[in-house]
Amino acid sequence: MIDLRSDTVTKPTPGMLNAMMHAKVGDDVFREDPTVNELELKIATLFGMEAAVFCLSGTMTNQIAIKCHTQPGDEIICDRLSHIYQYEGGGIAFNSGCSVNLIDGNYGRITADQVEACINNRNDLHKAYSKLVSLENTANRGGGSCYNFEDIKSIKKICDANNLLLHLDGARLFNAIVATGNSPKDYGEIFDSISICISKGLGAPVGSLLIGTKDFIAKARRIRKVFGGGMRQAGYLAAACIYALDNNIERLKDDHEHAQKLAAALQQKDFVGKIFPVETNIVIFEVKGRFTAETLSAHFKKNNILVIAISKMHVRMVTHLDINSAMIDETVEVINHL
Ligand SMILES: *Cc1c(COP(=O)(O)O)cnc(C)c1O
Repeated sequence: MIDLRSDTVTKPTPGMLNAMMHAKVGDDVFREDPTVNELELKIATLFGMEAAVFCLSGTMTNQIAIKCHTQPGDEIICDRLSHIYQYEGGGIAFNSGCSVNLIDGNYGRITADQVEACINNRNDLHKAYSKLVSLENTANRGGGSCYNFEDIKSIKKICDANNLLLHLDGARLFNAIVATGNSPKDYGEIFDSISICISKGLGAPVGSLLIGTKDFIAKARRIRKVFGGGMRQAGYLAAACIYALDNNIERLKDDHEHAQKLAAALQQKDFVGKIFPVETNIVIFEVKGRFTAETLSAHFKKNNILVIAISKMHVRMVTHLDINSAMIDETVEVINHL
């Protein structure tokens, strides 16, 4: 099977498994797991931030960040397509008791002007307190789109002028870093908190990191425990994440090239409508005419290729570590013959 459903389907390589097997471990709730401590220090240093906490998932890092930054009744400003709003089980309301002010952005990206227009007047009794702005980079439901760094800086200015905190859902931030050339430290300088997934394109089986100031991370560590996310000998998982950071960042550019090849093949077909601009490892396209998203996915499956119908008319393909160029060639061949 050529599994293009998501970059979460990767399995640990022998090198990664070897690193996991030889990890030094301890009880991480006591802060005694040397490998978890090493990973947290490594990612904080990479981003030029003070501290980090290792978590089970990107949903957990995002939800902990939101809980730390807000009080019940506060409002969060984000794009309508945001993972924190669409795909975290209503966690913003469930965990933090916050409302959202949703922006119709550009492929999942919002602008400083749009943020400014969403900020509520603190003296208006009718309105929730605007508290947090959350950006997503790359934007998953925007087709893996990347922010222009200048736009992020403009949003930060608006946040500073209005006492708003700024969170980054960077589940695929390394894809954006490889695609745009901005450095981790550029992001670390701007955001109050950053969430990174190591279990997506970087290929670890489990693991996300939340990065921020020392005080913020101390609070986050407490919330992680309350959410049931305090882990014990988690060093076996942290070792996979360290291995992923050391070995699997540069190669993301191959995934991006593979996505371009898929898009180029799709573009030739009469049943393909609009293709979202392909900037990283995600291809989302509209299906029309002879197929629906559902029947097209079934056709791919008959040819041992797995894709996802993300709506009635949209199909998503994601390239990753376990997809090599021979598999891309084979997929292109199938597309050509459809
Ligand atoms: C995958 C993803 C997450 C986190 O997902 P988990 O499955 O909880 O790790 C968060 N944000 C975005 C944009 C994602 O794509």
